[in-house]
Amino acid sequence: MTGRESDGGSRSGPEPGVTRDSGPARDPSTGAERVDLVVEGGLVVTMDAARRVLADATVAVRDGMVVAVGPSADLAGQFVATARLDARRRVVVPGLVNAHLHVSTEPITRGVVPDDTSFEENVFGWLSPLAAALGEEDERLSAQLGAAECLRSGTTCFLDAGTGWHLDAVVDGLGEAGIRAQVGRRTWDRPATPEKFRQTTSQAVANLTDALDRHGAGAATDGRVRATAILVGHTTCTDDLWRAARSLADEHRVGLSFHMSPAPGDARQFLAETGERPVVHLDRLGVLGDDVVLVHGVHLDDEEVRLLGERGCSVAHCPTTALKVAYGVSQVGRMPELVAAGANLCIGTDGANAANAADLYRAAYLVAGLWKDARRDPSVFPAAEVFAMATRGGARALGLDHEIGSIEVGKRADLVLHDRDRPEWTPLHDVANQLVYSADGRSVHTVLVDGRIVVDAGRLVTVDEERLYAAAEVAARRVLGRLGRRPVGRWPERGAP
Ligand SMILES: [Zn+2]
Repeated sequence: MTGRESDGGSRSGPEPGVTRDSGPARDPSTGAERVDLVVEGGLVVTMDAARRVLADATVAVRDGMVVAVGPSADLAGQFVATARLDARRRVVVPGLVNAHLHVSTEPITRGVVPDDTSFEENVFGWLSPLAAALGEEDERLSAQLGAAECLRSGTTCFLDAGTGWHLDAVVDGLGEAGIRAQVGRRTWDRPATPEKFRQTTSQAVANLTDALDRHGAGAATDGRVRATAILVGHTTCTDDLWRAARSLADEHRVGLSFHMSPAPGDARQFLAETGERPVVHLDRLGVLGDDVVLVHGVHLDDEEVRLLGERGCSVAHCPTTALKVAYGVSQVGRMPELVAAGANLCIGTDGANAANAADLYRAAYLVAGLWKDARRDPSVFPAAEVFAMATRGGARALGLDHEIGSIEVGKRADLVLHDRDRPEWTPLHDVANQLVYSADGRSVHTVLVDGRIVVDAGRLVTVDEERLYAAAEVAARRVLGRLGRRPVGRWPERGAP
């Protein structure tokens, strides 16, 4: 459960009650509604306000939308469907929403950064030069690789951290993959290196404006891939750029996302330059609001926690990165306090060189476990609450809570079907516990976005996976070759990996 939600707890077992829309086309002979698809017989975890879990349930889909969800017995004979999907041995959940992912700059260089580098060396010694070395086809391939990993592990929507250079190619690649996404340009106006990314404030504002003009709401791929306002954040933006990004987000009615305070350095520099901690300073600039997604938010003081809650901000918690890059999250992080203050805590997987995996189930497992241990209190972040962060919380962070995040009439049919015929799903007693502590993306069998099957039997159907992986291997070597670098392996190897 996220900060703004007041209802609680998962429920097990079926509950009566069917909800549906009105005004459908009907079959003239039977009077049954015409729909495109019915998903029949599944254990449906709705994640609706009451957290209904329906055994042997049916989800009916028309024009990409859920038009009915309820017990199959109650809906029998009510639909004439173009297609039927047997979900009798499936657990059906809403598609997960990843609140922070570097989709176009990192999947293609996954794992090349040594895992014993400092934060500064990680970002400035490796990630920035790698991002600068990407060409148009590299970014498109990287985006599709990231989309494939997300979709196959049950994530149907994500918020990107910003494309390096070739946003059009990334939008095109993601559109072909069939995932839902909010994307943008990697924007800053302070760092002078790498040379390729040097931007004046006016250039940065122009880039943001251009991305929003061309790929803003409803502009691309039926609206599934849309541009939003994204800044690199940290200490890379002038006050003028922060203010301009805020204005553009308002003007284009989109959100505003940026990194802040994963490590103590951001606060140290803000204090030295402005006399204020980062969140306090951004609030004074008028940046904060309920459309803001602040990424990381590990090193915050009491005032910053209070402000993020009061302004209704979302905080994208990336536990896999925090652990691997040694942010000290379990020692100094304030995630339970952020939720108590009213912030919307959602979950991200960050970059493929910081967290190295985009399976949001793995990150959700860490959220559920880390804070119990950090507070020595098993009541912190129950599984049901964490799964809500990964679904409803992410949807709210992206301003899409009216469209996705739960399986309800009137929302998009973004559905994930887990295969129950696996050891981690057997026996099945408490589905919330099973989703967060036992299962991960490996049991994802079928995925639908807008009612369209994009993963079937665990394989992507929108993109040829073998061709994608082969092309990504070649492109990855090409990118490293441009930098004159090789992976720094710790073990003696014979031949290329
Ligand atoms: Zn990031």
